[in-house]
Parts: sequence; structure tokens; C-alpha cells
Amino acid sequence: MNAPEKRLWRNFDEVKLDLKPKEVMEEANRCLYCYDAPCTKACPTGIDIPSFIKKIATGNLKGSARVIMEANPMGATCARVCPTEELCEGSCVLNDASLPIMIGDLQRHATNWAIKNQQQLFQAGKANGKTVAIIGSGPAGLSAARELARLGYKVIIYEKKEKAGGLDTYGIVPFRLPQKISLWEVKQVEQLGVEIRTNTEIGKDIDAETIMNQYDAVVLAIGMSTVPMLGIPGEELNGVYDAIQLIERVKDGQITDYFIGKRAAVIGAGNTAIDAATCLKRLGADNVKMIYRRTEAEMTAYPFEYAFAKEEGIEFRWLTQPKAIIDDGQGHVGKMECVDMKLGETDTSGRRRPVEVKDSKFTIDVDVVVKAIGQTRYTGLIDAFGLAHDGGVVKVDPKTYQTSNEKVFAAGDVIFGKGKGEAMVVSAAEQGKRAASAIHEQMLSRI
Ligand SMILES: Cc1cc2nc3c(=O)[nH]c(=O)nc-3n(C[C@H](O)[C@H](O)[C@H](O)COP(=O)(O)OP(=O)(O)OC[C@H]3O[C@@H](n4cnc5c(N)ncnc54)[C@H](O)[C@@H]3O)c2cc1C
Ligand code: SF4
Repeated sequence: MNAPEKRLWRNFDEVKLDLKPKEVMEEANRCLYCYDAPCTKACPTGIDIPSFIKKIATGNLKGSARVIMEANPMGATCARVCPTEELCEGSCVLNDASLPIMIGDLQRHATNWAIKNQQQLFQAGKANGKTVAIIGSGPAGLSAARELARLGYKVIIYEKKEKAGGLDTYGIVPFRLPQKISLWEVKQVEQLGVEIRTNTEIGKDIDAETIMNQYDAVVLAIGMSTVPMLGIPGEELNGVYDAIQLIERVKDGQITDYFIGKRAAVIGAGNTAIDAATCLKRLGADNVKMIYRRTEAEMTAYPFEYAFAKEEGIEFRWLTQPKAIIDDGQGHVGKMECVDMKLGETDTSGRRRPVEVKDSKFTIDVDVVVKAIGQTRYTGLIDAFGLAHDGGVVKVDPKTYQTSNEKVFAAGDVIFGKGKGEAMVVSAAEQGKRAASAIHEQMLSRI
């Protein structure tokens, strides 16, 4: 095993280290505390960034954590996973002079303090007698729940998995976001009296109609489902994995020896593909290739994720399309047949359509194939609620997040897609907040 692989081997600890106390103070004191700060405007949750940084500079870490978590109930997670160079840090005025303030790292410092000191930052509001059901306990559901509980609603979250937190708990790889950070944010919500009924799947254990009849309002925050089929021969072979399921097992501590020494191909170039590829390296895979039918310029992963994957030794095969997965003779993946692609006309997504190059067939030797080409939708459940949608993307009013049923609101990945929104923790958190506030306005209008 060569040197970088030794470094990665079985190391699922957070890659990025906390700033040291001296670095924190220097960075906090570098902030110009701009009036009408552009960073605050660029943060989808509108965190008052100069205010939380000022509080760090004056040693008020509880106050700082409160400012962050007030605006963003997923503030500790976002400090680690936000594409800050495109959001807050990207708009820092110091970009023109020197380097932007490390907003994400300072946010992490303040929220780390709250986690370490077991702070309960908010209190439940006085009970108002109204009830809200939230389906899904990811960032969108938790954020809506937190806001509603502070306004005095009795909130029940239904979650089909064993633990709450959605993709923060089960999706984003542990070496970028440890599970304990997500579970702390879950606890912050539970401490407000929100009941989370885990292992309870709506549509299976309880039907949609029962939920709609039992509550004053409903928030649908179910995210997206599994990775779709590639639609090529050989997908049923042993050694073919769904990236989301693979990461979930690793994140839940189920580390296996199976991948040691294997040659893996990850199909896709979004953030799930990068997380799966870097996970495979840590699981001991000898060689990990990411296979993408377009080019580097069209990949949907963020620049920081791409840079991270390159650092971890992931190989990239651009303009390559898998055509078949070939049996090794024992029902297991042995090779993958691919073709070269070239970019053609611009399609409806605004990107140039990849077109197959004639007579370009070739094979690569692989033992493992991981599918990471997006996620399917829970269309059946959306239909069971009777909501208008576009191929599983629930249609909502862009201000209130109300669906075609006035009692049902939707937020997070369930409304992302078809050219609308971004699948990000910070946007799910903001949408959850806005849905909660719209529910409150609706209830007030009925009094
Ligand atoms: C591998 C990976 C890496 C990512 N990396 C980043 C990143 O670096 N930065 C970033 O900002 N975003 C990242 N994202 C995207 C981010 O995780 C999502 O946009 C965000 O989690 C969406 O939140 P949500 O609450 O809408 O959905 P989810 O987090 O998916 O939560 C939905 C919840 O609903 C539950 N549920 C579903 N159906 C039912 C049902 N019928 N009954 C009860 N419960 C149900 C699910 O079990 C789940 O817990 C990543 C996503 C993936 C998959
Ligand atoms: S939540 Fe994300 S975008 Fe907003 S200030 Fe924090 S790191 Fe920046």
C-alpha cells in the first residue's frame, strides 16, 4: 500500500481540523463587520454573520452559537458541508483585498462550543393547542419542527429510519460530517418537546389519509429515494451497489473488509458520487475511478468536493458511458464495457448533450460498480397525499411552500429538481423555516 493510501486506510475521522484558538481570534478580528453585510445576504438562512463573529471575538460563544442556530437549525452541520466559496465566503468583501473570512470554520468553532458544553439554546413556546405532523426528519423536517415548537405547536415527526436526521445522519460521509453533529441537532429539536416517531413509515405503517385527518397541518419533508437503475445489462450481478446505501452503512459504523484491494468504478459526478468514491478508498479499494459521460465542466459536485476527491487519489474518466457490466463467470462483476462520448447540442438542462462516439467500445477491469446517478422520487407517497407534482418534484408556492392541498406544505429535496432549487442542507433548513412560518400565518388567519 502506498503512502496516501496508508493515510486513508480505515480513517473515518473528520478530515478538516478545527481552527486553533489563536487562529479563531485572529480570523474573528479580521472581520470588518460590514453594515448590510453581503455574506449574510448570500447565506440562504440569512445568518447575521458579523454579529456571530463579533460575539466570538468578545468571548461570548453561547451568544454566537445562538445567533447561528436561531437563523439555521442545522448551523453545526452547515458549518461543515455548505459550499461556502459559492455562498457566504464567496461574497465576503475581503475577497478583493486578501482572503475571505473563514466563515464556515468560525461557525464550526461556535457550534462546537455549544455541543461540547451541552447547551440547550432554545425553549418551546406556550402551547397553542394546534398540531402538526412532519413526515421525514432530515434538515427540512427538523427545521420546520423546531420553528413550530417555538411557536407553541404540538409537533410529531414521523421517520422511517431507526435514527433521525435524514442524510445528515445517514448520507454525508462521516469524514466530512460525523453522525454525532447531526444527532446533536436532532436533540436540540427533541428538547423542545417535539416527538420523533422513528421506525414509522408513512404510506406503510400509517396511511396518508389518516395523517391528513389527524393534524391541523402537515409538512412533507421526505427527501428523495434510492439511486435509479442504470438500465444496462449486468446490473443484477454481485458487486453492484447503490451509492446512497453504501454510504449509509459506512456512516452507521458497518465497516466491511469486502472492498480491500478491489478495483471500483463509481458512475456519476455529483456529491453522492464523490462521497461514495472517497468512502471506497477508506474501505481499502485499490483503485477508484469515477466514470462520467460529460466533462469536468458539467459535473454537479462542488469545486471543494472535486478538489478533495483528487487529493484522495480518485481517478476521473470523463466523456465515458458504461454500456454493460460483465460477469466474471461466477455471478460477480468482472469488467465493464464502456464507450467514448463527445458533447453535442445544448439540451433542456442547459448543458451540452453527450453523444456516443461510433465504434469506440472498450472494457475496463473492475470488481465493484457503484451507481451514483441521482435519486428517484417517492412518487407513490406524493400521489397518496394527492399533491400536484412534476415527475415526483412536489409543486409548491415559492413563498409559502404550500402544496396543491392547502393543509400540506413541502420542503427540502422533495421540492428540488426540474431546474428548481439546490439540493443543499442549508436550503432545506431555510425552506423548513419558511413552511413553519406559513403554517403559523395560516393558523392565525383562522382565529
Ligand atoms: C452523499 C450525499 C452527500 C451530500 N453532500 C452535501 C454537502 O456536502 N452539502 C450540502 O449542503 N448538501 C449535501 N447533500 C444534500 C443534502 O444532504 C440534502 O439536500 C438534504 O439532506 C435534504 O434534506 P431533506 O430534509 O429534504 O431530506 P433528507 O435529508 O433526505 O431527509 C428525508 C427524511 O425523510 C425520511 N422519509 C422518507 N420517506 C418517509 C416516509 N414515507 N415516512 C417517514 N419518513 C420518511 C427519510 O428516511 C429521511 O430521514 C448531500 C447528499 C448526499 C446524498
Ligand atoms: S449556513 Fe452555510 S452559507 Fe450560511 S453562513 Fe453558515 S456556512 Fe455560510
